[in-house]
Amino acid sequence: MPKKWRIIDLINWAEIYFKQKDFKNPRNEIELIIRFVLKIKRIDIYLNFDRVLIKKELKLIKKFIKRRIRKEPIQYITNLSEFYGIEFFVNEHVLIPRPETEKLIELAKKKLKLVKNPTILDIGTGSGCIAITMALEKAGCKVMGIDISDNAIKIANKNKNKYNLNNVTFFKIDILNEIPMGNFDLIISNPPYISKNEFPDLMEDVRNYEPKTALTDYSDGLVFYRRYSKIAKQILKESGRMILEVGLGSHPRKVKDIFINQGYINAELLKDFNGDYRILLV
Ligand code: GLN
Repeated sequence: MPKKWRIIDLINWAEIYFKQKDFKNPRNEIELIIRFVLKIKRIDIYLNFDRVLIKKELKLIKKFIKRRIRKEPIQYITNLSEFYGIEFFVNEHVLIPRPETEKLIELAKKKLKLVKNPTILDIGTGSGCIAITMALEKAGCKVMGIDISDNAIKIANKNKNKYNLNNVTFFKIDILNEIPMGNFDLIISNPPYISKNEFPDLMEDVRNYEPKTALTDYSDGLVFYRRYSKIAKQILKESGRMILEVGLGSHPRKVKDIFINQGYINAELLKDFNGDYRILLV
């Protein structure tokens, strides 16, 4: 053990440690923690390999390594997650935004291109990542984000304030039992769609740390879509659309059938970056 720990000593040590614990990207793990504690960019790590770490920094870094070793997602440790190039505050009360979900934003922007001052409803907003990104990306739009969780609404508002937005509002609403007021051009949602049976198969980072109610409907993974198919006609404009994230395997097909059976004519499954059907456009 070196007497004085330089950044490079710490990296070398932690890389082996994370590797022993079966982390796929050991180097990245320690770099993210160092960047967070020292508040520096990746490039600055490389430019300061010989910088000696002070006791306080080492103590914090050690604490975060311990948390990460227990498989806590790095985003909860740093309270930071990036979505569509935008930074969001996250903690254990909200789902960590996923890159797949960015595809919903792309599609929404495309579909709203010709709509002036559209109104958008984001159901199950969590950190507010979808609602806030739309509010930032689509000029003149008005967004309502809803969630059943008080804690999620608090975090969504925190993220909203970070970007000084006045065209997005968050409300606590239980969509399975209440109907929000409005006449929307777009309903967008990434609802809990992991079924009760699939839940135990999730990775432990996800299963043990992310909010269970944001992941699963404690049923067959279709509860939210059934509900949307029943209430959408009341709150969507005639020309309105729904953009919904769906799961893997047979899930997309089942979701599509729900809408077809409810009499929606246009229900189209779309592929994500990986070539899987992950979005339903209704
Ligand atoms: N809308 C949020 C997201 O996409 C939360 C989704 C959820 O909690 N199921 O990250």
